[in-house]
Amino acid sequence: MAPATQNPLLKPWKTPFEAPPFNEFLPEHFLPAFERGMATHRAEIDKIAGTAAKPTFANTIRALENSGRELDRVAGVFWNLTGADSNDDLQAIERDMAPKLAEHSNAITSNAALFARIADLHERRATLKLPPEELRLLERKHLAFVRAGAALSPDAKARIGEIKQRLAALTTQFSQNVLADEKSFVLPLASERDRAGLPDFTLAATAAAAKELGASASHILTLNRSLIEPFLTFSARRDLREQVFKAWQQRGEKPGSTDNRGLINEILALRAERARLLGYASYANFKLADTMAKTPEAVRGMMEHVWAAGLTAAKRERDKLQAVAAREGANISIAPWDWRYYAEKVRKADYDLDEADVKPYLPLDQIIAASFHVAGQLFGLAFEEKLDVPVYHPEVRVWEVKDADGRHVGLFLADYFARPNKRSGAWMSEFRNQEKLAGNIRPVIVNVMNFAKGEDGQPALLSFDDARTLFHEFGHGLHGLLSDVTFPSLAGTSVSHDFVELPSQLFEHWLSTKGVLRAFARHHLTGEPMPDALIEKLRATRAFNQGFHTLEYLSSALVDLDAHSLGDPGTPDAMKLQDETLARLSMPDEIVMRHATPHFQHIYANEGYAAGYYSYMWSEMLDADAFQAFEETGDVFDAAMAEKLKLHIYSSGNRQDPDAAYLAFRGRMPTVEGVLKQRGLVSCEAAPSRAGTARVLHSK
Ligand SMILES: [Zn+2]
Repeated sequence: MAPATQNPLLKPWKTPFEAPPFNEFLPEHFLPAFERGMATHRAEIDKIAGTAAKPTFANTIRALENSGRELDRVAGVFWNLTGADSNDDLQAIERDMAPKLAEHSNAITSNAALFARIADLHERRATLKLPPEELRLLERKHLAFVRAGAALSPDAKARIGEIKQRLAALTTQFSQNVLADEKSFVLPLASERDRAGLPDFTLAATAAAAKELGASASHILTLNRSLIEPFLTFSARRDLREQVFKAWQQRGEKPGSTDNRGLINEILALRAERARLLGYASYANFKLADTMAKTPEAVRGMMEHVWAAGLTAAKRERDKLQAVAAREGANISIAPWDWRYYAEKVRKADYDLDEADVKPYLPLDQIIAASFHVAGQLFGLAFEEKLDVPVYHPEVRVWEVKDADGRHVGLFLADYFARPNKRSGAWMSEFRNQEKLAGNIRPVIVNVMNFAKGEDGQPALLSFDDARTLFHEFGHGLHGLLSDVTFPSLAGTSVSHDFVELPSQLFEHWLSTKGVLRAFARHHLTGEPMPDALIEKLRATRAFNQGFHTLEYLSSALVDLDAHSLGDPGTPDAMKLQDETLARLSMPDEIVMRHATPHFQHIYANEGYAAGYYSYMWSEMLDADAFQAFEETGDVFDAAMAEKLKLHIYSSGNRQDPDAAYLAFRGRMPTVEGVLKQRGLVSCEAAPSRAGTARVLHSK
């Protein structure tokens, strides 16, 4: 092992804002840095556990919170790179390290002497006179240890350790298989005929992809959602739509070395076994116990209520698509690869809105500026682009964020474009958390997206959905940037997963406001603002195709919940479970799950959203209600409301219970009816809510 001082991951970062010096990191630095980080952490833990003095908050909880910093720093860099800028070397390290890190964390949570100290403090917590945030940290630490198995017998703890290591290996392989399938598919669009129906922006994006990959064809299609969705929307070639759709659907499901189905069955069995060891009826019961929803029944009640309204709407939508196809003389039954194509025609006919008319008004830079403007109006933030901060890829951009008094708030990194070595989707993450425990440490936040690039020298033009994605991730980014807590493990987005989508989904609302669109949606060639008529059309289409969107989302969420609701599944068959759930729901044949089981990264690439994909809709109850709070004031930037929003939601991290945080902001809890209204699914056909399903939020 080279001395620590030689390893750029471990030595002090003498860069602007102490940002990670990415240009100095080489793959061979990671293993020794991880090993050293773990060794240091183990020594710190042994010291805390072996302390002779009676447990105090300072010598146990604060010391624990202060431990493992070296490891956190290395892991922060590593996991961000494996998501956004991976390569074969990093993937090999990932396969090696994932089980080792699981073993490392399990050794800590199963350390009996350490847990005895935490349990002793927890027992006496009412008499310790701790300030609220310290009490919260003690409770969260105790709960985390209990949920990791710390209170179990030595045999059960050992088995949980084995399960965690195996799960770490399986989920890593799952994720790498999806990436491999995505990379292995390229469809050349060599002739004019292959490109029939494609608008200019899709031609530009497919040409840029061909250039990027050095393809021989002038235009290519890859399995990037930013290319696939426009292709399915516009391509007049039904045979190619079918071919592409099937490749997109079959990620993780092709027989051979990247087949994820066997891995998933094992993951489900292991998760269920661990939940049973911890005393829960199922993995879903275990997972949901520490969320706003609390129980699978509450989640199911919410989703099935919305499902009924979504199904009615989707059937209406399908009949319209079928009618358009018939009118055109296409002798077909609508298939999943036809839905977007005919939906676009319906949209044009009913709303006179053409996606190709919208995109020229949504150049990437303007939408970035719009998101910064909204953050300025609400929270007084200002953004200054920095060119001297190291980045991990030349396309990454960096801004310094300052508050209204000019004080440094944090660094914001953004990585907008699709690349072959980037995981699909969009996400926010951090290289450094905000905290005040080790001084006034400000965060380093990153947003990663997969937008298609513009053609040579042309700006990237976003769809309205892309623009919404940018606002969404930026909302998460603000949750990290505005964080104002003492303890790093309570910072920013460290909240319950059904609360964490509130800051992101709420932020999306401001994109659709007239003021923001008028000011920032400007034609990339002429600088002309988007015409009012087009803005009105965009706003009018918000309820369009919502039956489809509701079903593709909810089917995924219900398949997730069902798969994780098994008590003792023996050897489960995840594909059979998926089929059974879809049959029970009467899923229309023309619509598929947004994420089918074999490539459902949210729930099988790690544990983040397992039994938790419902979270987006749970948070939607909150965001619909929270934006209404602004609308009720008559000013979407109402200063007093924005101040409350910052205090209780965006800056408060996990220093209080999420129900309490929302109540403090709004003074009441929302219901699922707001979701139906927001999606335009309330109609005379929607049945009144059944008893027990409308009010699904638990108050304390
Ligand atoms: Zn999100």
